[in-house]
Amino acid sequence: MSRILIVEDNEKNRKLFKLVLGSIGHELLLAENGEEGIKTAEDERPELILMDIQMPVMDGISALKALKAADETRDIPVVALTSYAMKGDRERLLDIGFTAYMAKPIDVDKFKKMVGEILEAGHE
Ligand SMILES: [Mg+2]
Repeated sequence: MSRILIVEDNEKNRKLFKLVLGSIGHELLLAENGEEGIKTAEDERPELILMDIQMPVMDGISALKALKAADETRDIPVVALTSYAMKGDRERLLDIGFTAYMAKPIDVDKFKKMVGEILEAGHE
């Protein structure tokens, strides 16, 4: 079991990610925008962060940059989840420091597999 932080402004998506990851035994923390996400990451030190890109208050890219700039949160893997998948997006997101990228709507099996692989890599 791992602690995973979901940063996502869409309630339906938050519920879906929580349901999928909760069903395989993970503990979920939820935040509704980048600012809340940073605060929760600092306070709770999750093992993985799933980050939406388009959010009010603070978007996922600004939040990622802040997480990578702080010693306390720099090493937490952050996965970008976005519905705006255009050519070159994946490379751009990985370049700025996201560990991985997944397009929404998610493929549930691929999503579980990706999360499992990233958590395993962190435990090596
Ligand atoms: Mg959004």
